Amino acid sequence: MVKNNERAGIAAFIQSKCPRCGKGKVFSGSLFSLRSFSDTLEYCPNCNLSYEPETGFFFGAMYFSYALIVGSIIVGSIVMNFLDLFDYAIYVIPVLLILLLPLIFRHSRLFMLYVVYPLMYEEKFYGKRKDSEENK
Ligand SMILES: [Zn+2]
Repeated sequence: MVKNNERAGIAAFIQSKCPRCGKGKVFSGSLFSLRSFSDTLEYCPNCNLSYEPETGFFFGAMYFSYALIVGSIIVGSIVMNFLDLFDYAIYVIPVLLILLLPLIFRHSRLFMLYVVYPLMYEEKFYGKRKDSEENK
């Protein structure tokens, strides 16, 4: 069973697993399918955590997506510069970004689930706590 205050670690994040139990998958489609890479399940098949605590929850993923894309451009530029291929960076980096788009999309949503969800919707994420009931 899932204990209070426990959540999945970085391995589950990389494997796109549930942020609470670390076992159920978050996405139903294949990462390599253009039609279904964005299909997100509504609930964790293992612990029944709702992946969308309120309508539009995943709009916030745009901020993480922006950060991941800008970070990729910076890292790509530095790497291309070290390889002495910086003149080709204007062609190579956009192609890489398009190829990485499904991964960036999914991990932006996972950042929302792993970082924002436990902070904003503590009760939905961890379940009702004993100490919060005593304070009422
Ligand atoms: Zn779960």
